[in-house]
Amino acid sequence: MAKRIRYEDRNHEPIMPPLIRVKTFREYAFGYSVSLALDEAQRCLFCKDADQRCIKGCPIGVDVPGFIKKILEGDLLGAYKKILEADPFPSICGRVCPQDRQCEGSCILYYDTVKGKRNKGLPVNIGALEKFVGDFARISGVEVDEKSVKPTGYRVAVVGAGPAGLACAYHLAKLGHEVHIFEALPKAGGVMTYGIPHARLPRDVIEWEVKKVKNLGVKFFFGHVVGRTVKLSELLEKYHAVFLAVGAGRGRLGIKGDHLKGAYSAIEVLTRVSLMKSDLFPQSGTPLNLGKKAVIVGGGFTAVDCAITTLRLGIETHVVYRRTRETSSARQEEWDHIMEEGARVHWLTQPLEIIGNKEGKVIGLRCIKMVLSKQEEGGRPKPIPVEGSEHTIECDSVILAIGQKANPVAYEDLPGLELWEDGTVKVDENLRTSIRGLFAGGDVVNGGDTVVRALAEGKRAGQSIHKFLTEEVKL
Ligand SMILES: Cc1cc2nc3c(=O)[nH]c(=O)nc-3n(C[C@H](O)[C@H](O)[C@H](O)COP(=O)(O)OP(=O)(O)OC[C@H]3O[C@@H](n4cnc5c(N)ncnc54)[C@H](O)[C@@H]3O)c2cc1C
Repeated sequence: MAKRIRYEDRNHEPIMPPLIRVKTFREYAFGYSVSLALDEAQRCLFCKDADQRCIKGCPIGVDVPGFIKKILEGDLLGAYKKILEADPFPSICGRVCPQDRQCEGSCILYYDTVKGKRNKGLPVNIGALEKFVGDFARISGVEVDEKSVKPTGYRVAVVGAGPAGLACAYHLAKLGHEVHIFEALPKAGGVMTYGIPHARLPRDVIEWEVKKVKNLGVKFFFGHVVGRTVKLSELLEKYHAVFLAVGAGRGRLGIKGDHLKGAYSAIEVLTRVSLMKSDLFPQSGTPLNLGKKAVIVGGGFTAVDCAITTLRLGIETHVVYRRTRETSSARQEEWDHIMEEGARVHWLTQPLEIIGNKEGKVIGLRCIKMVLSKQEEGGRPKPIPVEGSEHTIECDSVILAIGQKANPVAYEDLPGLELWEDGTVKVDENLRTSIRGLFAGGDVVNGGDTVVRALAEGKRAGQSIHKFLTEEVKL
């Protein structure tokens, strides 16, 4: 195998030009061609201690050099199977993982995690290669996840069909357990379906990955709000174990003036567009009145996704974020994308108050400029206000993308369930809660993180539940 060491010539995925992509919700990143994938795969140095570098950087432990090697050997099915050993959903992770902070952030070309020093190159584009392999399987209709083991007789209920619930169900079904997923919404996928815009993660990609779970015999019960249509305590009686994976889908408000007409939580806006088709109003039934100019507050995935959405709805889009781009949690290239599409980002700007008119309608957002201080806040420099820099950005709507919190509807009938002060569920290292037979994982435990972390916790919960069933539950 020819080994070339090239640092700066990372192959970027071809993407639609900004003026075209801003007019459509179609996916704007086209993915690698075979030749681009082969060229990029050759940049991998196949580090002997990759388990301390890219593999360790991946929360679900994908054997990165292993699958890249298969690409170079022309064995795409082998590459796909290699990824599936750790991660059930390569087409999703290749698209949405913040690889710059995970596998790619630990690539030796970029940062030597063993020596702890920054190198001079750009990392291997692991995300694009994973997407390439996942899409090869999807487009060619490869199905490798067959249920081959005998049914065990154990029955497990999973609450929530987001990445954590799906991954748990996938692993349990492969071990021969009967799994039923109860989901409040009419579709599976959780935030991947109702939050992340189609332009970043098309629905047919999610449907393909969910089909793998269905093919293993997992049954889905949609429109079941656990805590309302069925109680968690009833599920605990009817099933041998229950996995709680209801995410953290309640949008945070909490800025003065957030009651005004035209102030929204990000989740409301994204759900209305992604799930309820308000972008097609009046042909479709759900209206969304954001006016001509919207200001989005926040600096994470959610803020960027709101900007992608409002730009495509033809709305003048501003984003205010109290820190800098480098200290934000969104993917760096996505900031580039929304700015190319016309979003104006106000870095180091803290919102103070949403301003309304006499009719109670939003007319602006009062803000203050910030500066980064030497003090630390959560491992990052703390922003402090610049005196006398208050100013108002006029707008018709304000969208708050300042985090989500757990929605306790599913578990409020279980007084014995131990929670943290912020409402997230307490678990031990095996993801067991304080109630026997009830396990939990994903955002409802970690308070909001990434798709791949939810997948990893779902998988870990599947392993713990299997151990619990086979060692502690008699049939
Ligand atoms: C807008 C947005 C964009 C994001 N973008 C990215 C990204 O690009 N990359 C990334 O890695 N991460 C991203 N994240 C974070 C990531 O999506 C989450 O960390 C991940 O989806 C959490 O998975 P989960 O399965 O724990 O919860 P969720 O995905 O929230 O799924 C929970 C499921 O439970 C269901 N549910 C809730 N309550 C009940 C109930 N009572 N009864 C039955 N069902 C119920 C919900 O309807 C939902 O389907 C983003 C988050 C948001 C909000």
